[in-house]
Amino acid sequence: MRLVLTGSGASRGMALGRARLQQPSRDLVDERPLPADEVEAEVERLKRAIEIARDELAALRDKLHGSMAREVAEFIDAHSLMLADRELTSGIYELVRQGRYRASAALKLQRDRLVAVFEAMDDPYLRSRKEDIEHVIARVQAGLLREASSEERKLAARVGEILVSDSVAPAELVPLAEHGVLGVVQTAGSRVSHGAILARSLHLPMVVAAHDALGAIQDDDLVLIDGEAGEVIVHPAAPDLARYRAWQRDSLQRSKQLALLADRDTRTRDGVAIALYANAESATDIALARASGAAGIGLYRTEFLFMQRREPPSEDEQFQAYCDVVLGMGGLPVTIRTLDLGADKADASGLTLDDEDNPALGVRGVRLSLRHPQLMRTQLRAILRASAFGPVRVLVPMVCAAEEMSQMRVLLRDCARDLRSAGHEIADNVELGAMIEVPAAAIALPSMIRKLDFVAIGTNDLVQYTLAIDRNNDHLADLYDPLHPAVLRLLAQTITTAQRAGKRVSLCGEMAGDRRYTALLLALGLTDFSMHPGVLLEVRELIATLDRGELRKHTAALLRAPTRERIERVITRMHAP
Ligand code: PEP
Ligand code: MG
Repeated sequence: MRLVLTGSGASRGMALGRARLQQPSRDLVDERPLPADEVEAEVERLKRAIEIARDELAALRDKLHGSMAREVAEFIDAHSLMLADRELTSGIYELVRQGRYRASAALKLQRDRLVAVFEAMDDPYLRSRKEDIEHVIARVQAGLLREASSEERKLAARVGEILVSDSVAPAELVPLAEHGVLGVVQTAGSRVSHGAILARSLHLPMVVAAHDALGAIQDDDLVLIDGEAGEVIVHPAAPDLARYRAWQRDSLQRSKQLALLADRDTRTRDGVAIALYANAESATDIALARASGAAGIGLYRTEFLFMQRREPPSEDEQFQAYCDVVLGMGGLPVTIRTLDLGADKADASGLTLDDEDNPALGVRGVRLSLRHPQLMRTQLRAILRASAFGPVRVLVPMVCAAEEMSQMRVLLRDCARDLRSAGHEIADNVELGAMIEVPAAAIALPSMIRKLDFVAIGTNDLVQYTLAIDRNNDHLADLYDPLHPAVLRLLAQTITTAQRAGKRVSLCGEMAGDRRYTALLLALGLTDFSMHPGVLLEVRELIATLDRGELRKHTAALLRAPTRERIERVITRMHAP
């Protein structure tokens, strides 16, 4: 029967496909003791589940293509090998036969034992392999739930899948998209979580905070998701399918219409030039940025190059990746952000700590980078070498204090000197800027601005840290509010401080690409925006209808308004003709 679940839209677009449930493994465990006469049947169930997991991995490997294929294949091979490992499987069968554990409980116990062994290892890389164990066991747990024959499974895989999960780690999203997943429904998460940002970059429609999804949807149910409205329709009816077809037609039409704006300047109605940069994580983003007439790349998040790897990428590998971006942008400026690992962006090479009580307040961003100066040198050398091929700027994430920028400046200078003396061609001047995404940096900016060549405001984190609200916590999504008076004041101060010092200031958080905030940001004096390239033309279209001179008349009222409601009222007035 048709059922509509509501969540929040996190990545636009609609997708129609068969549901594939990824249950959190903690919910699957059946702890009741197993009667003696059911032991062999339970072992058979386990064998079938392992076989399902193995078949799935083989099918996924066959589907791989594109730039990430080699790395993803390595993961899949490692997981397949684990499933073929007799020690792992016989240990599980033994738990069922001797210990009378049910299949799910035996899997959990075996996982906990192995994870404990890995956790006790000194080598950070080996320690991080516990995640592989967790993934493999979770896959077998999911296999236990599936009673479908392999023929049915193949069919389901062919028509495309909508992944339904509690939460998908950002690192998992790329392989999922490569495997042909059409869309994602999460019971948790928010639209500013890194998973959502990456989903937008992968053009993967996503609905988050659909709390009932795991209970209400069954494997292989036909599901229609609307990543704009935040709606999940289970067993869609004829009118839903008609809406889906209409959306397909309209989005084609709309993109043709917007494409006409691709080679236009971005100007307000009263003729003020505005620069729209693109945020990029992938080659597709670069192509889209060019096709949309972006002014350059305002934020290239390099941590996604590191997250799925056992070893950090070498200088040459990074150089290749940065060079591709610089060449791809054909002479337009490219802002490369140094590594921003930590918090929800954990890596597999052991750089991020996994025992922090508050990882969002922990060793992340520039703090982590400065603890690994050699890692930073490698990255900065690669960026500097890429600067020979086009204008490059270096952006430092999660800056809290001027000293961090001084240390980064020294590292950058040393790397430039070493490269030049080794005969490498690099640009004469590579600018160094700071992300303003921690309230301390925004408040202390007047005393720090001299040390910076430019600043980029990261509202995703600035809102989180100003309001003490986890950007990934769906229970607080309605309180995570860029329209809080404190946030507006920090934004206004940052923009004004940078502009008075003659430094370029852009905004590259999700707010920049959200048309609900375009007029507000213009009113606060912002002229440089950086956003997902998929929304750039729509923002350009809107800007052409706005009069900056008129909007600026509302700045004082915006900053005086004591509540969100009053701020919204001013914004509504700003939009009135
Ligand atoms: C931000 O915090 O606004 C930002 C752009 O960085 P990220 O989303 O990668 O944390
Ligand atoms: Mg950030």
